[in-house]
Amino acid sequence: MNNFIPVNEPLLDGNEKKYLLECIDSGWISSEGPFVNVFEDRFSKLVERQFGIAVSNGSGALDIAVTALKLGVGDEVIVPAFTIISCVNAIVRAGATPVLVDTDPFTWNMNVSQVADRISARTKAIMVVHIYGFPVDMDPIMELARKHDLKVIEDAAEMHGQTYKQRPCGSFGDISTFSFYPNKHVTTGEGGMLVCNDPELAERCKGLRNLCFQPARRFVHEEMGWNYRMTNLQAALGVAQLERLPEFVARKRAMGKKYTELFAMVDGLELMPTKTTYAENIYWVYGIILKDNVPFDAKEAIRRLGEKGIGTRPFFWPMHEQPVFQRMGLFAGEKYPVSERFARRGFYLPSGLAITEEQISTVAEEMQNVLGGER
Ligand SMILES: *Cc1c(COP(=O)(O)O)cnc(C)c1O
Repeated sequence: MNNFIPVNEPLLDGNEKKYLLECIDSGWISSEGPFVNVFEDRFSKLVERQFGIAVSNGSGALDIAVTALKLGVGDEVIVPAFTIISCVNAIVRAGATPVLVDTDPFTWNMNVSQVADRISARTKAIMVVHIYGFPVDMDPIMELARKHDLKVIEDAAEMHGQTYKQRPCGSFGDISTFSFYPNKHVTTGEGGMLVCNDPELAERCKGLRNLCFQPARRFVHEEMGWNYRMTNLQAALGVAQLERLPEFVARKRAMGKKYTELFAMVDGLELMPTKTTYAENIYWVYGIILKDNVPFDAKEAIRRLGEKGIGTRPFFWPMHEQPVFQRMGLFAGEKYPVSERFARRGFYLPSGLAITEEQISTVAEEMQNVLGGER
């Protein structure tokens, strides 16, 4: 298809090429290269944290976070049902038990009012995940964490440049994590970062990232880690991308505003929250949910848009409905109706940084045709 509009296209026209060439010219391409520290320093400052630990992807960052906080067998971790599988993978692999909460239909994030009910004597942590560009209401979460002495892991993979009550997302968790996959606001191709303020925790994260080699006896290991190191090439991209974050955030917000305006008069769609008292949407992606009176589901809408040359992605599939976890006997008989509905009725439209106003208009028009029944 000639005029195919992809669901995501990154913008790489700043200093990316220049910094990559520096890596190649200098020969520093592994994780030992100088861009890694620069990226860690700049990124952690941006989210007002003491330490940044760059890793090879956001899923790995979650593995390290769970293990660094020593969560394991017998420990329960509260986590949203509506999220990427990386969150629950990390908990299950560590031997801990994921305990789910449903989605809030207005914020599209974990239903904060359900968290208190899920706390038991075994609860050790809450894994908060900010969804699609709009943050979780953090005050009640932090209050519960204080009251029950729980750790907070904050998955801020979709939140570069976003704030909650003027404080950066990624500044709340005992450990907070980011991803730099190409559809995130800042990309390194593949990549991730952990941030925290506790020097001991930062050291643990660094060890776990690097196979738990020990400075004194390198090939003697007290613990199992991973090779989750970020390369200098990736970090070079990251440094270049970070220079443009304010511009990227402005572009994403303009994209979200434009879609929202075009859909304002369209019947049949539930749109993303635009703002509340604590945040303004940053539109990591532009998600839509088909109202119940639309006589088909997201799968069919995605198929019809695809025929028109428009790339989309379905929403997350809820964790309690994942075959892999069902086979493990997890979440048996549990129901999270809002998450289930989101998964079946929701999807997102082309919303990458390189999208043009014209493409947004085309997408909105085709979406209206799909809703109008025109094939
Ligand atoms: C993208 C994403 C991740 C995973 O990041 P990868 O770098 O793709 O492993 C984790 N959590 C959330 C919420 C994400 O959006």
